[in-house]
Amino acid sequence: MPVKPPSLAMPRCAAPKLKQDDAKSRYDARRESSTKRGYNVRWRKARLTFLAREPLCLMCMMRGVVNAAVLVDHWFPHKGDSAVFWNTKHWAPLCEACHNGPKQALESRGRRALESVWIKIIKAREMMGGGGSNL
Ligand SMILES: [Zn+2]
Repeated sequence: MPVKPPSLAMPRCAAPKLKQDDAKSRYDARRESSTKRGYNVRWRKARLTFLAREPLCLMCMMRGVVNAAVLVDHWFPHKGDSAVFWNTKHWAPLCEACHNGPKQALESRGRRALESVWIKIIKAREMMGGGGSNL
């Protein structure tokens, strides 16, 4: 039975929320479609296979919490680089709360912060007998 992670929600405040929604809308309007960014049928199949092999959220696991992953995150932003996009060694199964909260915060701190946590994840995976997936 999955154990729900502690809530990462911040107290609600209408004004900042509106600003965030507005910024997100502008960002989404400038982005290419998900299909053009590589999230096509091949991706959808690969992500399902990956989640079948690695069904638990890595960031929850790092906190000692067992929780189902619902998405596959590119730990390091691929920025349209297909070699990075398809490098399964850097795919991370995450729950939505971790993806939208601590992972986004980590990503905003830059590559060094991402690498620092990724090294810890690799060590934890090795201790549990895993080593990432190769599709
Ligand atoms: Zn999680």
